[in-house]
Amino acid sequence: MRDLFDLPLNLRDDKRVTVRRAGPLNRHGSCVVYWMQRAQRAVDNPALDLAIALGNELGLPVVAFLSIIAYYPGANLRHYVFLNQGLPDIEEDLAERHVTFIVRRTPDHRVEQLLQEANAALLVGDENHCREPQRWRQALTRRLSLPFVTVDADVVVPTKLFPQHFYALRHMRPHLLAELPHYLAPSRNEKAAYHWAPRSTLARWDVRKDVTQGWRNLDRSVRPVETFTGGTHAALRRLREFTSHTLRDYPTKRNHPELDGTSRLSPYLHFGHISPATVVLAAQRAVKEDKATQAAYDAFINQVIGWRELAVNFVKHVRQYDSFNCAPDWAQKTLRQHVRDRRPYLYSLEDLERADTHDELWNAAQRQMVRYGWMHNYLRMYWAKKILEWTPAPEVAYQYAVLLNDRYELDGRDPNGYAGIAWAIAGVHDRPWPERPVFGVVRSMSYGSTGRKFGFQRYIRNVDEGCWCGS
Ligand SMILES: Cc1cc2nc3c(=O)[nH]c(=O)nc-3n(C[C@H](O)[C@H](O)[C@H](O)COP(=O)(O)OP(=O)(O)OC[C@H]3O[C@@H](n4cnc5c(N)ncnc54)[C@H](O)[C@@H]3O)c2cc1C
Repeated sequence: MRDLFDLPLNLRDDKRVTVRRAGPLNRHGSCVVYWMQRAQRAVDNPALDLAIALGNELGLPVVAFLSIIAYYPGANLRHYVFLNQGLPDIEEDLAERHVTFIVRRTPDHRVEQLLQEANAALLVGDENHCREPQRWRQALTRRLSLPFVTVDADVVVPTKLFPQHFYALRHMRPHLLAELPHYLAPSRNEKAAYHWAPRSTLARWDVRKDVTQGWRNLDRSVRPVETFTGGTHAALRRLREFTSHTLRDYPTKRNHPELDGTSRLSPYLHFGHISPATVVLAAQRAVKEDKATQAAYDAFINQVIGWRELAVNFVKHVRQYDSFNCAPDWAQKTLRQHVRDRRPYLYSLEDLERADTHDELWNAAQRQMVRYGWMHNYLRMYWAKKILEWTPAPEVAYQYAVLLNDRYELDGRDPNGYAGIAWAIAGVHDRPWPERPVFGVVRSMSYGSTGRKFGFQRYIRNVDEGCWCGS
């Protein structure tokens, strides 16, 4: 019987790959199953690439399986609609690579059921370092009798290279930049050599149908948005638009929420509709083609690789990433010392959710998130800092910020969100600043100084008139 490690694919040394369950393959197996979870795309997907390489090596076809769970923690109609919009692109692009796509929903969503019905030889998955999906992978590994490998497909530099939490971007950046030449490479998007013909009775959900059909208890109060359309094809159009026209001014315009100065790719990166490597390689090409400067590229990769991969490193190594307990000692100490400081305003979660505060800039930022499913980065910082200022304790602020962010942002429930809130409220990845009421030595942001740095009246008008453009 062939063993996983007998295959000439060097799985043991590949830093992108984790062998969760080793051992002999199912020798009567008739396909390789790729359990697509985080990387919801069929192009530039290292997990799919590995499944195809394994299938071709074993003389087996590949089946990509997406299991849609009703009531995924924190997900509401807005998130499911975006996910749903991405499914036809995945099916179409998988067909190009001769891979069959099977989508199933609760109650038929179990991976083991599919493995059995498809008679899998082995299972390939992708990685998501957030707590819940990690727990699912670990639980599945314990129950499986097949080999199971996962691939860190949604970071440019594999997270395994960094076994510790970095306390600041300046510590991680040199390591990331040193590893980049080894890992930043275009995918060859190889095709599967063998075709899988499923039994006609095999259950599968039509990717064009509403995946939430019949889910009575789904939170439908958070409506889908028209500003973003999910899917790899829309993501690639947005990327082209960004690298052709916007990237060149990224260093000067990225902190201007009243302008269209950033990529707005975060929802696509969150759902895995586009790979971060695709984004970075496109930015590199833009520099070669004189559409952007090296300085613009450097500023952009500082965000899309630097801050983004620091966020993944944070959730991977700091267990309490979604609560105030993740704060470093100096921030815990200073915020506790100031917990009795008089707050200039105190707002309930409902006040905040309704954008019903005295601060017109904060209200506009909250409205941008609620109406359009996306808030500009500069205002996300201000937004979270003010929640710290206007609630009775940092634990409460942290909880409210996570709740609102995950509920309304299309890119919510993401390492970037937890790291962003941790930075703003808990001083994570930051340093002490001069002491202020309420904030102590955690960096503060004031209405006066924040509003002076950009055209904030224009921003408020744009939000209210809906004239900032999505994809
Ligand atoms: C309080 C707070 C909450 C946040 N919540 C989220 C969230 O839920 N989901 C999310 O994806 N991002 C979050 N961010 C990070 C950042 O604000 C968004 O990623 C960014 O605004 C997305 O817009 P863009 O795609 O146009 O970014 P661009 O400026 O075009 O950057 C390109 C990509 O780089 C990454 N990136 C940019 N800035 C950051 C950053 N500060 N930290 C980590 N990665 C970054 C994102 O993947 C982004 O799509 C949050 C930041 C803060 C301060």
